[in-house]
Amino acid sequence: MDFEFTQQETAFRKEVEDFVKQELPPGWDEKIFRWPGGYGATPMFEANFKEFWDQSFRKLGSKGWLCLGWPTEYGGMASTMKQAIFNDVMSYYGAPAADVATSIVGPTILLVGSEEMKKEWLPKIARGDVRFWLGYSEPNAGSDLSSCQTKAYEEGDDLIINGQKIWSSGAHIADYAWLLARTDSTAKKHQGLSLMIVDNRTPGLTIRPIQNICGIHSFNEVFFDDVRIPKKHIVGEINKGFYYLMVALQFERIIMPIGAFRRILEELVKYVKETKRDGAMLGKNSRVRDKLATMAIELEILYGFYWRTAWLMDQGVAPVLESSALKLLGSELGQSFANAAMEILGPFGQLEKGSKWVPLKGMVSLGYLDSVSGPIGAGTSEVIRGIMATRGLGLPRI
Ligand SMILES: Cc1cc2nc3c(=O)[nH]c(=O)nc-3n(C[C@H](O)[C@H](O)[C@H](O)COP(=O)(O)OP(=O)(O)OC[C@H]3O[C@@H](n4cnc5c(N)ncnc54)[C@H](O)[C@@H]3O)c2cc1C
Repeated sequence: MDFEFTQQETAFRKEVEDFVKQELPPGWDEKIFRWPGGYGATPMFEANFKEFWDQSFRKLGSKGWLCLGWPTEYGGMASTMKQAIFNDVMSYYGAPAADVATSIVGPTILLVGSEEMKKEWLPKIARGDVRFWLGYSEPNAGSDLSSCQTKAYEEGDDLIINGQKIWSSGAHIADYAWLLARTDSTAKKHQGLSLMIVDNRTPGLTIRPIQNICGIHSFNEVFFDDVRIPKKHIVGEINKGFYYLMVALQFERIIMPIGAFRRILEELVKYVKETKRDGAMLGKNSRVRDKLATMAIELEILYGFYWRTAWLMDQGVAPVLESSALKLLGSELGQSFANAAMEILGPFGQLEKGSKWVPLKGMVSLGYLDSVSGPIGAGTSEVIRGIMATRGLGLPRI
């Protein structure tokens, strides 16, 4: 079995590394402190460094790196493996990379959108010109999105939307909603739903902030009061939204800032080598060594699923079992890494960024809280295990 990258892939990795090292502003490492497997901090960084974020997206867009996995006729390189390499490198450096538009909206439009929709939206997304937020969850619809109650009724060439979404990450810094709404209230639960694109600036759309567990404004509740959109913004066929959503969720579950795990492990190893506790190097403590060794093994397993999922996608296979395992492991690893890091740092782990004695820029106290969100967003761990049991292992639905 050959696990090596091809020469082309190795060269591409180097190109991305060289690019990111040159492009990141001085002191970026000190500014950015995100925890992998958590959702809570990214929108804050996008908001705080908006100008840099927008510029970076446009630069990446001009290089064709925002749509690496897309077919060549839409500006991509038709290589999920290159996409995976890109995400690995960029997340290692905490650089802007995959987002909702490039990783979820674009690929779903490619699969199910009309030609007109492809022509209108794919170039904008590939250039890095537009940002999206995901409008799925509602107060009474989370894991079971077929319970969606936001309604959109037809009026001439338009749809009129009424309802409420919640936990809408980054809605306040995005341009468009990728929205799930009920377009036929008489059909069965799964059959009367549609996916649609809504401009955030449309009258009747109100965004209210929600602070997350870390005290950060990362998500929102969004209200729709007679919001009017053109019918041409319906994705694919009307009332097929639930099936398209299953596709979109698969795309969401393989977005993995895997390089950030690698970075944190490296930083922890460096820390225990440089830090003394009770007169001895922390790295000589057997419990600390055990934890770091376990983290290294877990990370290796995660990378195994990561590369395999990308490779299978390039072979034209829909890797349901692998991508589900990747989402499950990645989000749970976010928590186990945070727990292990907290134990290694002891009471210092609780200190926050800005404190005089804070180790690792306060990433651990942030990660300890933020990583709770990983096993909830984009499908809870329980739901993902259920998918693996039925679709992966062929067990009956319950
Ligand atoms: C940080 C964060 C960011 C988010 N961002 C967004 C976003 O941008 N857009 C968006 O639309 N949503 C977003 N969400 C919402 C997220 O998708 C939902 O929270 C998630 O799908 C779970 O839904 P729920 O919270 O309603 O919980 P519920 O569905 O009510 O689940 C409650 C509990 O029941 C369990 N459960 C439910 N159904 C099953 C089942 N069939 N089998 C076994 N156990 C089950 C769950 O695992 C969970 O433990 C975000 C959530 C978080 C935490």
